[in-house]
Order: sequence, then C-alpha cells, then structure tokens
Amino acid sequence: MNRDANEMKKTIIPAADGKRITEEFCELVSVDSESLQEKPIAEILKRKLEELGCSVMEDDAGEKIGGSSGNIFALMEGEGSPVLFSAHMDTVSPGKGKEARVMEDGRILGNGEAVLGADDVAGIVEILEGIRILKENNMIHRPVEILLTVSEENFCRGAGAFDCSNIKATEAYVLDLSGPVGKAATRAPTLILFRIKVTGKAAHAGFEPENGVNAIEAVSRAISKIDQGRVDEETTFNIGKIEGGSVTNIVPDQCRIVGEVRSYDHEKAERIVEETERIFRQEAEAVGASVEVKTNVLIRAYSVDEGSRVCKDFVAALDMIDEDPDPSEGSVFVSTFGGSDNNILKTRGINGIVLSCGMYNVHSKEEYTTVEDLEKGARLVAALCCL
Ligand SMILES: [Zn+2]
Repeated sequence: MNRDANEMKKTIIPAADGKRITEEFCELVSVDSESLQEKPIAEILKRKLEELGCSVMEDDAGEKIGGSSGNIFALMEGEGSPVLFSAHMDTVSPGKGKEARVMEDGRILGNGEAVLGADDVAGIVEILEGIRILKENNMIHRPVEILLTVSEENFCRGAGAFDCSNIKATEAYVLDLSGPVGKAATRAPTLILFRIKVTGKAAHAGFEPENGVNAIEAVSRAISKIDQGRVDEETTFNIGKIEGGSVTNIVPDQCRIVGEVRSYDHEKAERIVEETERIFRQEAEAVGASVEVKTNVLIRAYSVDEGSRVCKDFVAALDMIDEDPDPSEGSVFVSTFGGSDNNILKTRGINGIVLSCGMYNVHSKEEYTTVEDLEKGARLVAALCCL
C-alpha cells in the first residue's frame, strides 16, 4: 500500500468543543473533592455518564476506606475489544474553595488560595468530551470502560479497594500525568514507606546519665551510616521525619523516624529497606537500645513494553489527532517517579500506561492547565476508542 492510500485510510478525529470542555472543567473544579470527601463530585459525574448513555455503578470502596463515596465504574457499549480509561476524582489539600480562571492566552489558573484541581479534573473532562466526540460524529468505537477512582492521592487506596474483575479491558489509559498532552509513562516505581521506633531508657541527664540509653544517639548513629538522596539512577531514599525526646534534662528513651524508598526495581527497594533495618538494629544494639520496624509497600513498580498494543495504539492515536511527535523532544514514552492508579491496575493484570493530560505545577497553588491541552486530550481519548 502506498503512502497516499495509508493516509486515506486514517481516521481523522473531529475537533472538540472548546467552549464546552472549558465550562465543564470550571464546573467540576468548583466542587470540593479532597480525598475521602468525593461524594458531591461523584454524584455529578454519575449523572453525566448516565446522560452519555453509559451504564454506571458505584462500588463500596467508600465504606472500605472510610470515604464519602465509592469508585465509579461505567460502561459504554461498542464493537471489538474493550478499552479502559481511568482518572481520579479526589484532589490534594488545600483543595477547598477551588476556582478556575480562564485567561486570554488559553491558560486556566486557580485562585491562588487552593490548588486548581486540574489533577485530575483535566483527565476526567478529557474522557467525557472524548466520548461526546464519538457520539456526536456517530463514530464506530470499541466498548469503553471508565473507572473514576476515589482517594488516589492517598496512595491509590480507592483503586486498591476496587474489584478489578469488573474490568473486561486488558489495556488501560490512566489520564494522570503532568505535562503537555502527547506523552505516556510506561514505567513507575515501587514505593515503600518505613517507620522505625527506637526505644532506649530514660534517666536524669544531670544526676545519672550513665543509667540512661539515649534513643536519639542510636538513631543518629544509624542515619550517619546510610546514604540518602539518589542512591542510583533508579532508586531514591529519604528519611523525611524524625521525632524524639521530651525535655533537656532527661536522656531520651524514644526516637521515631519515617522514611521512604522508591525504585524501578521492586526487589532492590525491598533490599534497601532490609539493609536500613539491619543498620538501625546494629547501632541501637551498640548503645543498648531496641528497635521496632514497620514497612508498607504503598505501590509496586511496573514497566510496560513499548511494543505492546497499548503503546502502539497510543502512537497511532497521536497520528490520528495530527500530533506528529517532535523527535527533538525525545520519545513519547517516559518514566515517572510518582505512583498512580496504574500501579494498581498493573498488579491486577491490566496493561496500562499513564497519559499526560495537560496539568502543570500540580499539588501547588500555581497549578494550571490550558484549553488547548483539554481539547487535544479529548481528541486523543476519542482516537484511542476507535483503534
Ligand atoms: Zn493525579
């Protein structure tokens, strides 16, 4: 087949309705939806999905994790193999009283008092508008599953509570990555949280210091023997919190630290946590203190093969919205060092990638998005449904 014939075959995705998607974005960010308090936005989204002709259900994740709403799962009938789109409904704090301001240059800013909430309302409106593009242009599309989760910002607890056997799709696009539309993360790390409590023995620091066991000393000895920061190109380590002692004239009998390790290599992350525990035990023993360690694997590393269908479809969809990737900007596939609901989906056997959806400066009061990104993201969703 020659090139012309190929071009003729290519489905061109119609434009998004820029006014509508901007208004919907402003409407949704104006609803407070901090983690575990997603009920109001969930009710609005259930209605919107039903109006789009989807069958919609809410699960019991709210009861399981102590939130006001469950995850929302919707299905739109179609032809061929199903595809899943996902975004999260919660925002970080400060997320009360959010307000969008649309600027003349097409940027959409917050009010400076709270985050904007583009993370992840940008992803949500791109999914909704993408479906409208399909409907309004009578396009033939795959069955589309939509998972809108709660409590993603709390280490994906909402997605973790979702019964993924409801999902028929084997490929997923999670719209939850910073940066302009057109990139996809195929790799994310394991994240392990650890808490270490060192217990020594209290004694009067002036009268009988030799009868005390200084827990702070044990902790400081251990920390001095551990490399923090970027351990290697795929691993970071951070002790982010320390507290201990009470008053100046008592040898402190307690000291607690909390830290995290991230790595694209899950086993390596586990080994580093074990080594950390070993050093703390060794140094505590040296001064006569004892140690308790608690670890929690918050997310698990994954990596998606760029030759797999989910990645090939992404590249094809970019072509369908006439987004020729600029080779000078490198591959459209990137790694992220943050987690997302995709970490959960991967552990449930669903091959997903995380799409950048046009959010910038996330988790800050300077967060913004752009009308152009929202339109482009919606067309990308529509394209992915047609493959
Ligand atoms: Zn997010």
